[in-house]
Amino acid sequence: MRFAHPPTPMATAGWPPGGAADPHSPQGVPPPSGGAVDPAIIADLAAASRVLAAHGVVDAFGHVSMRHPEAPDRWLMARAIAPASVTPDDIIEYDLDSRACNANGRGSFLERYIHGEIFRARPDVMAVVHSHSPSVIPFSLVNVPMQAMFHNAAFLAAGVPVFDIARKFGATDMLVGNTTKGVALVDSMVGRDVVLMRAHGSVACGASLPLAVFRAVYTEVNARIQQMSIALASSPFAQNSTESGAVSIAALDAEEGRLADSINVAGACLRGWALWREQVRAQTGW
Ligand SMILES: [Zn+2]
Repeated sequence: MRFAHPPTPMATAGWPPGGAADPHSPQGVPPPSGGAVDPAIIADLAAASRVLAAHGVVDAFGHVSMRHPEAPDRWLMARAIAPASVTPDDIIEYDLDSRACNANGRGSFLERYIHGEIFRARPDVMAVVHSHSPSVIPFSLVNVPMQAMFHNAAFLAAGVPVFDIARKFGATDMLVGNTTKGVALVDSMVGRDVVLMRAHGSVACGASLPLAVFRAVYTEVNARIQQMSIALASSPFAQNSTESGAVSIAALDAEEGRLADSINVAGACLRGWALWREQVRAQTGW
């Protein structure tokens, strides 16, 4: 049998497995560990990846990290695999330069600098989620500010900045793949807990792992609700509600957001986490 054209050689880097190495992989002596971490906490972090996958926040891509509970200059994240596949054995420890302490041959996410630079610059942040969740991305492309549509997403009422990587770096591969780009991303956050990344995705932070996961989940839900609200406001049934005749969306204002978010931070987020964590435990046994 003859082919009309010769078969195209497999040109995808890293495929088949064992092929090309991560060009960003750090070389040399790894930094020392900040100390052993309770296996239950490691399991919670692995479970967080699966929770985010189950809620459509991450798919084959995206990652969640947490600061080392005893060593503020160390943090933890899974090796570079699909979030729904993460197990406790996949968790790697990093320093603030995003160098792995204990990779032992395991690959790291190219965009780990998002996490390292946030942990370096924001002592209030204990966990970080980076995702490309689809309902959020339009708000990074179109000049429609994301607003808090309901109390669960109250943390958005403070304002949601958009990081445009081109503003400082010109045309790039869009990835936050080094320290300099990580610093630029953090600068764009201006102290907020959620930042959108133009034509890429978003980052959600929190003072605990459950809170960061809660915010990542409800940023995606809020984006869906806001798009539905915009569509409804544009329908012929919408009644004009402003002097200009434009239809407004009655989102939470900054003070409502502050008050409502304090409830989430004080513990309401834990109800979601308890349910979602238990669902992972039922599936995995850990
Ligand atoms: Zn990304």
